[in-house]
Amino acid sequence: MKTSFEFPIGLEYLVKEIKIFSPMYNKKYFFDYHTNIPVIKAFRPKWKDDLESKNYKIHNLFGSKINDVKVKESLYYCSECLREQLEINGEGYWNRLHQIPGVYICTIHQVLLDYYSINT
Ligand SMILES: [Zn+2]
Repeated sequence: MKTSFEFPIGLEYLVKEIKIFSPMYNKKYFFDYHTNIPVIKAFRPKWKDDLESKNYKIHNLFGSKINDVKVKESLYYCSECLREQLEINGEGYWNRLHQIPGVYICTIHQVLLDYYSINT
């Protein structure tokens, strides 16, 4: 089974389990602040309603035709960002902007992104 980086899986379960901490943790919150869906919406506004409804039959959110933007099959990260995150927070996190298809350079540090394969 392949993992999708584009589309949140199990979001209903996550919201159900975490909403006891704050009412702000709803599906829209996770869509807007923890996925690349805001970027997708900017380029594909007609999918907005589908994304916010329960229509999860979309498999390739960034492209729908052959030769569209190639979906990344690994998680990407910037070593410099990771070093700073470790210094500041004591832990690293995945930067969602680094996961966008076609993005292979950290815009902050101007370096090539490294990748971590998970669908091997
Ligand atoms: Zn960076």
